[in-house]
Amino acid sequence: MRYVSTRGTAPAVSFAGCLLEGLAPDNGLYLPEAYPVVTAAELAQWRGFDYRALALALFTRFAPDITGPSLRQIIDRTYTAQIFGHDEITPVATLESGLHLLQLSNGPTLAFKDIAMQLLAGLFEWALDEKGETLNILGATSGDTGSAAEYAMLGKRGIRVFMLSPAGRMSAFQRAQMYSLNDPAIINLAVEGAFDDCQAIVKAVSGDAAFKQRFRIGTVNSINWARLAAQVVYYFKAYFAVTKSNSEVIDVSVPSGNFGNVCAGHVARQMGLPIRHLIVATNENDVLDEFFRTGVYRPRATAETKITSSPSMDISKASNFERFVFDLVGRDPEKVKALWGRIDGGGAFDLAESGEFARLPDFGFLSGSSNHQDRLATIRAVYERYGREIDPHTADGIGVGLKHRNVGVPLVCLETALPVKFEETMIEALGRPPGRPKGFEGIEALEQHVTTLPADIDWVKRIIETRTGSVTQARQSA
Ligand SMILES: *Cc1c(COP(=O)(O)O)cnc(C)c1O
Repeated sequence: MRYVSTRGTAPAVSFAGCLLEGLAPDNGLYLPEAYPVVTAAELAQWRGFDYRALALALFTRFAPDITGPSLRQIIDRTYTAQIFGHDEITPVATLESGLHLLQLSNGPTLAFKDIAMQLLAGLFEWALDEKGETLNILGATSGDTGSAAEYAMLGKRGIRVFMLSPAGRMSAFQRAQMYSLNDPAIINLAVEGAFDDCQAIVKAVSGDAAFKQRFRIGTVNSINWARLAAQVVYYFKAYFAVTKSNSEVIDVSVPSGNFGNVCAGHVARQMGLPIRHLIVATNENDVLDEFFRTGVYRPRATAETKITSSPSMDISKASNFERFVFDLVGRDPEKVKALWGRIDGGGAFDLAESGEFARLPDFGFLSGSSNHQDRLATIRAVYERYGREIDPHTADGIGVGLKHRNVGVPLVCLETALPVKFEETMIEALGRPPGRPKGFEGIEALEQHVTTLPADIDWVKRIIETRTGSVTQARQSA
């Protein structure tokens, strides 16, 4: 299995290659040269698999370069009831006949990003051990990636994390989770700007090949193919959980921001998993909804990015979207390069009149957006009808999903975080704070460790320069 860049000029690499590179050297994103196809016989066999066996079956295809018992060991150590609170890892709760919630948020930081990030940490350790190297992870977070990455990488030999977050734009609980970590290998940087500014800095620093090589910069953002690959697993798990036979189809509704989660669903569907519709649910920051309705992709500037009550989706430039467009335009890197030439220059593109956009239905995407009032109404309705507290992002997914629901086709809504992370909105919706899982009491009162800085590439580079070195030393003395 080789991985190619969506922009076509970077050489093809192995799984280990794209694991450590993150962004391809031509600024494209890696994708398998061809998606591995799951046969009917395999799908029949996999129906009986537990989470770990499914992950192994998929990663045997995605990462054939991880040889020997390593892959199984990494997976078995990652997907445990101890880390994810449940032996199913991603259990399904049935709200009513044909309406299901895929629970992805019972990992250490209570959001779906733990599922991929915990595996990524194990994969990084394997890759670094193989090469005897160290890695400085540079990431951007709208709230949940950062804590998932920090909790996964904490204590991993040879790994240091620089995490950029938008100052003042995350919930108090999210800030407490990240900033209360006190470890020299975890560096929290609050950027005066929006998530997209943080992401742009990560892209710019990663795009400086000399700097990237000198400081061994790696990424954990959802542009990293390994994260997407890890997310493919739970689409299979969900399909088997809510159907009885492989002749059935399902619809899946996904709260979306950076298009990482739903892109994994797209990969699963391309591999042959019988998903009928992938429903892209956005909040008021609706660039993705706009594209799927009109063919126009028009990322917004920071000033136009709204601060909403589903803040992890306050994203106006969905970096993984390039992966889908690569498939949509028939995997023609020249076309992707031309389209992203406009995007990277601050512009937009319009595929409405193109033959490519006419083929959109082949990919099964539907979309919709919600606002604050929709979110509150969905949280209340789900609590009243099913006695279940859902977080504001999950509410966006359920609200939009229900609008596209058809009788006879199971609808799976992805639960992307637990309500405790967004207490303020939950109080507004239900009149009281949400239940708080054990171990998270009073974390907002802990001392916080964070440096605030302007949205400036050179500023971030200087911090990396001054803070690197001791990881290497630790490794040498270990
Ligand atoms: C990250 C996140 C999302 C958006 O996922 P993408 O992969 O960026 O589309 C939605 N909900 C929550 C709670 C998140 O943390």
